Amino acid sequence: MTLHIPFQNSYARLPEHLYSRIEPTPVKAPEVLAFNHALANDLGITGTDDLAELARVFGGNDVPEGSEPLAQLYSGHQFGHWNPQLGDGRAILLGEAGGFDIQLKGSGPTPYSRNGDGRAWVGPVLREFVVSEAMHALGIPTTRALAAVATGETIYRETALPGAVLTRVASSHIRVGTFQVLAARGDTAGLKALFEHAVARHYPHVSTPLEFLKAVIERQAQLVTQWMSVGFIHGVMNTDNCAISGETIDYGPCAFMDEYHPMMVFSSIDRRGRYAYAAQADIIVWNMAQLATALVPLEEDTDKAVAGYTEAINAMPERVHTLWREALGRKIGLGETQADDLQLAARLLKLMSDQGADFTNTFAALSGDKARDQFVDPASFDDWARDWKVRIAGEDAPEEVMRRANPVLIPRNHRVEEMIQAAVQGDMAPFLRLSQALAKPFEHNPEFADLTRPPSAGERVQQTFCGT
Ligand code: AMP
Ligand code: MG
Repeated sequence: MTLHIPFQNSYARLPEHLYSRIEPTPVKAPEVLAFNHALANDLGITGTDDLAELARVFGGNDVPEGSEPLAQLYSGHQFGHWNPQLGDGRAILLGEAGGFDIQLKGSGPTPYSRNGDGRAWVGPVLREFVVSEAMHALGIPTTRALAAVATGETIYRETALPGAVLTRVASSHIRVGTFQVLAARGDTAGLKALFEHAVARHYPHVSTPLEFLKAVIERQAQLVTQWMSVGFIHGVMNTDNCAISGETIDYGPCAFMDEYHPMMVFSSIDRRGRYAYAAQADIIVWNMAQLATALVPLEEDTDKAVAGYTEAINAMPERVHTLWREALGRKIGLGETQADDLQLAARLLKLMSDQGADFTNTFAALSGDKARDQFVDPASFDDWARDWKVRIAGEDAPEEVMRRANPVLIPRNHRVEEMIQAAVQGDMAPFLRLSQALAKPFEHNPEFADLTRPPSAGERVQQTFCGT
C-alpha cells in the first residue's frame, strides 16, 4: 500500500505574505533512522510499511500528494534582542493531518535561511526525537517526532557531520514571534488573519485578543511549571521558540538536570543564564508581555487594551508561583498545598543544591523512604524529613501522589550523547532501548536501572551546543 497522509492546508489559505511556498531540497541517499508508527496511526496516516517510500517522503525527496509545502514567516526576541526577521530557515511545513502540523526540519534552504544551509545533523535530530517523545510520555505538552531520516550527505558545523531530517508534529507552529513580525510591520490585516486562525485552532472558546492572551498565559504558565517539576531546562526561550499552543517547541541546547541547582544552564550560548532553570518562571512572563504588545494593533481602543493586557501580565507571576507550589507539593506527596508548603519544599531543594543531590532520583526516592542516601550529609535530610512527615501525616495517599509526580526515568544528557555517538556509527540499538525505557517514565523497571544512574565525572556532558 502506498503512503497516504490526509492533508489539509489551512495555513496555506492565510494571506500569502505570511509564508513562502517552497519545496524540500532532495537529498542524496535518504534512509529511515526512526519512524513513529503509533503517532502516524493517530494522525490518520496509512500505508507506512514501505521504508524506501518513507525515506523519500520524510527525507524531502518526494512531496506527498495533497501537501502544499511552505516555510513560515516569523521574527522574535533572541536573548532579549529584537530580530526583525527569522522564519523557517530550515523547516518546511508539508501541511496538517488529523489537525496537527507535519513539518520537515533540516529539509534544505528557504527564503528565511539567511546564511544557514537549511540542514540539520543526526545528533540534534535524534536528540529532539528522544527528548520530545520522552516529554510526551511524561505528560507534558510538546511537539512530537514522527520520523528521522539520514540524508547520506555531509554537512559542516565545527566538523563534518552526517545530515538528517526530522519530521516534527505540532498542534501548530505558530509562535509569539509569528504575531510579532506582523505587528512590527504594521500589518494589521495579516495580524487579524493570524489571530483568527490561531483562535480557531487552539482557543475556539475565545473571542477577544485579551481572552486569547489570558488563555496563552495560562497554558504557558502550566507548561513552564511542568518543565520545572521534571528538572527540564529548555535552553533557548526566545519568543520565536515560544508556541501559542503552549507546547514545548524547538529542542535545541536543552537538557534535564542531573544534580539540582536553580541556576543550572546547559546552553553554550547562554552565558548570562537568562534561560537558567529557575529563571524560566520569570522569562515566560517577559515573553507573554511581548505577545501582549503584538496584540495591541488588533484593538480599537488602545488605552483600554493596554490596561487590560497589563493587568493580565501583572497577574502572571502569582499564577506561576501558585502552579509551582502545587507541582512541588505533589512531588513531596501533597495533593493540595497551603501557602507555607512552598517553604517546606524549598528547604529540600536548598539541601539538594548545597549537596549536589540528583533532582530526579531524590524525588523518586521520597516514596519508599530512601531519599537520605542521596545526600552527602544524610542527617541534614533527616531533619527535613521529620517536619515533612508531620506535614504529610494527614494526607490521603501521599505515596500515590508522589509516584505520579516523580518520574524514575528522564532522558539524561550523557545517555542521549551516548545514543547519538552510537547512531553516528550506524548502531541504532541505544536509540531503541532509550526510547523504549522513556515511554514509561514512571515505572520502576529493573531492566532499565542503569538509565536511572546519574553521570560519573567522566560521563558528564557540560553543555549542549546550538550547532544544530
Ligand atoms: P533556532 O535557534 O533553531 O530556534 O533557530 C533560530 C533561527 O535560525 C530560525 O529562523 C531558524 O530557522 C534559523 N536556522 C537555524 N539553523 C539553521 C540552518 N542550519 N539553516 C538555516 N536557518 C537556520
Ligand atoms: Mg527556533
